[in-house]
Amino acid sequence: MYEGAVQELIDELGRLPGIGPKSAQRLAFHILEADQDDIKRLVTALVTVKERVKFCSICGNVTEQDTCNICRDSRRDPTVVCVVEESKDVVAVERTRSFRGRYHVLGGAINPIAGVGPEQLRIRELLTRLNDSQIEEVILATDPNLEGEATATYLARMLKTIGIRVTRLASGLPVGGDLEYADEITLGRAFEGRRSAIG
Ligand SMILES: [Zn+2]
Repeated sequence: MYEGAVQELIDELGRLPGIGPKSAQRLAFHILEADQDDIKRLVTALVTVKERVKFCSICGNVTEQDTCNICRDSRRDPTVVCVVEESKDVVAVERTRSFRGRYHVLGGAINPIAGVGPEQLRIRELLTRLNDSQIEEVILATDPNLEGEATATYLARMLKTIGIRVTRLASGLPVGGDLEYADEITLGRAFEGRRSAIG
């Protein structure tokens, strides 16, 4: 244990996802030795992101306005909606340039161990969107891991009753990882090779 402020910083950093005790300690000492100006910029960025950024009222993507720039873009195809877990997945799909529709960001995946069930995700919002718009196809693009698969299966089963075209990305994505780990070409191919999710 360190004295006072150093330990407090290590504890706070250690609460971030993917940061273990050793990384937290290394980051804390990096901050301690860094220029005052660099740290001021970091603090400003942290405060600003919490003040300015919110979630799109339509799709749940991050935005600084009421709706995100994809939902506001009238050139995007309103008949196809790609369902992803997080905003970072929107960025991953956008990078492929093979999708010109809209998105729906769930805010996670079904994970009983972590206490995340369908009610914790933006599934109700998705159903509302499907009720009152011109959506013809829903592409399920959850992560190629256990939680992502469970979420896609749940959604496919639920959407079956609505009579909408539901597709899933073709296989070939690196199994067990996040959508964002797939390179653009692989992810682009998975989009083009998508198949019906309703058997
Ligand atoms: Zn949006």
